[in-house]
Amino acid sequence: MTHEPRRSILCPNCRKLISVDEPRCPYCGIGRPGSALKNNPWTRAFQNPANLVTIVIGLNVAMYAASLLLSPGGIRLSPANPFTALSPGTESLFMLGATGTVPIDGYGRWWTLLTAAYLHGGLLHIVFNMLAFRNLSELILQEYGPYRMIVLFTLTSVCGFATSYLFGVRLTIGASAAVCGFIGAIVYYAWRRGGTYGQALLRQVGGWLIGLLIIGMMPGINNYAHGGGLLAGFALGWLLGFGERIREGLLHKSLAGACALVTALALLYAVVGGIYLRLTM
Ligand SMILES: [Zn+2]
Repeated sequence: MTHEPRRSILCPNCRKLISVDEPRCPYCGIGRPGSALKNNPWTRAFQNPANLVTIVIGLNVAMYAASLLLSPGGIRLSPANPFTALSPGTESLFMLGATGTVPIDGYGRWWTLLTAAYLHGGLLHIVFNMLAFRNLSELILQEYGPYRMIVLFTLTSVCGFATSYLFGVRLTIGASAAVCGFIGAIVYYAWRRGGTYGQALLRQVGGWLIGLLIIGMMPGINNYAHGGGLLAGFALGWLLGFGERIREGLLHKSLAGACALVTALALLYAVVGGIYLRLTM
C-alpha cells in the first residue's frame, strides 16, 4: 500500500502551513481551507503581499510599454530632456485611459478615473512613482495589510483624479495620486497611534510631503490629484481602520475584490479599445 504525499498549503485565512484536505484549519478554524473558493490564485496572491506589489508595478510597466508601442510614429526618444525621455504620445495616453475633463466630459470615458493611475508620461515619471509606491507599500502592508492596500491604492487614486476633474484639469495620468493616498493613510495611522513610533513615522512622512511640495512647483504637476489623494488616504485610514485596531475581515476582502475587478475590466477595455482605435485610425 502506498501513501500519497499529503499536499500542504498555507491557510488562506491565517497563513499557517496546513494540509490541503483539512476539513477545518487547526489553527484558525475556518472550514474547508483547501477548497477552490478559499484557496485559489487570487487568495494566494495575498499570502505573499510582495507579489501584490510586483503585480501593481508589472501592470504599470505593461501599460507604459503599451502606451509607447501605440504611439503614432513609434517610440520617440528625446534624450535632450530627461523629463520627456521615452515619452508616449498624448493620443496613445488618451486611448489607453488618461483621465480629466476632456475624456470624461467630451467622450464619456468616466472609467478613466480607474485607468489613469497605470499610465505615465515618461521614464522618469514611472520610475519615480514606482519607487515611491514600492517604498511606501512596505509601511501600508505592515500597518493596514494587503487587502486594505489594494483598496487604498484604487480609491485614493480615483478620489485624487475626481478632485482634479472637479477643478477642471483637462488630461492627466500617473500613480502619484495613489502614492499620495498611501502618504495620507500613513499620516492617519501615525497620528492615531502616537508614541515614539508614531512621531518617528510622522517625521519620515514629513520628508515625503516636503518632496511633494517641491515636485508640485514643477510645471504640469497635478496638485489637485495629489491633494485629493492625500485627503482620501487620511479618510480611508479612518474608515477602513488599521491592523492594530481591526483585523482585515470580509468587508476589506470584498472591497479589495471589487477594486481589483473593476480595475482589471477598465484596463482591459482601455487596452482593447486602444489597439482597435490604433488599427482603425
Ligand atoms: Zn487558518
